[in-house]
Amino acid sequence: MGPKMRMTQVLSIEDLSPHMRRIVLTGDSLEDFPVDKESAHVKVIFPKPDTPNKSPKLGMYLGFKKWMRSYTVRYFDAKTLTLTLDFAINDHLGLATNWAANAKVNDYLGIAGPGEVKHADFHANRHLFFGDLTALPAIAATLEKLPENALGHAWIQVPTEQDIQTISHPTGVNVQWLVTKNKLTDEFLKALQAQPKDLANTAIFIALEAGVVRQLKTHLNEHCEYDKSKIYASAYWNKKQKS
Ligand SMILES: Cc1cc2nc3c(=O)[nH]c(=O)nc-3n(C[C@H](O)[C@H](O)[C@H](O)COP(=O)(O)OP(=O)(O)OC[C@H]3O[C@@H](n4cnc5c(N)ncnc54)[C@H](O)[C@@H]3O)c2cc1C
Repeated sequence: MGPKMRMTQVLSIEDLSPHMRRIVLTGDSLEDFPVDKESAHVKVIFPKPDTPNKSPKLGMYLGFKKWMRSYTVRYFDAKTLTLTLDFAINDHLGLATNWAANAKVNDYLGIAGPGEVKHADFHANRHLFFGDLTALPAIAATLEKLPENALGHAWIQVPTEQDIQTISHPTGVNVQWLVTKNKLTDEFLKALQAQPKDLANTAIFIALEAGVVRQLKTHLNEHCEYDKSKIYASAYWNKKQKS
């Protein structure tokens, strides 16, 4: 048996900023969707662009993965059966971002998952976060769940000043917005290089383009002492897409 796939419909659409669109999904299929999975990802199943009823085909069939992308659970409310996803839009072209940019209330979307919450240790001595716009939902959801006395630093790349969001975070976690259209900016590496070499009790969250993730991991491996079990490092997108 494959993963459970749920059919949902768009309940509301809100532009949070020029490059981030919030889409709230609903449907009876969310009745047994697990709670407390904010920051975990779901696989979103999109309709083929030419499907007349704009409905995705659920199930496992040859080539089904072509229609799936990963998105982060920003909120889930079990009482109202609403699942909130934030989509980076108005930037690259692709199945998911194009769908989000053109979405209408009542449009259909498939959901599989969720997976596990990403941050490796909510109670570490310190926390470091490195993410671009695609990781903003996961970082924001994680910061909301850190203990009040948590300490650390988050660097989040956004393309414009208007894309900076007001997010809740412990006062001891410094949130620094890197406002640049260059998602591959070396500011992430510089920020990591400026950290102490002893990161053994630090939980590190890295979600960026694949090459940038590699850069940061290479620095950690070559110059830092860190605890593998406290690291989440994942390519949220890949500049060189496999064909
Ligand atoms: C665990 C996880 C959680 C994620 N959560 C979110 C989320 O909450 N919100 C969100 O917006 N994204 C999120 N992403 C990233 C998202 O899955 C990718 O950006 C995805 O490739 C978008 O699909 P697409 O169909 O728009 O583009 P694709 O069809 O996958 O790619 C088309 C082209 O666009 C390029 N491309 C893809 N993404 C980007 C980008 N961000 N910037 C520039 N070029 C890009 C590709 O290299 C390719 O050339 C997440 C990824 C992972 C792994």
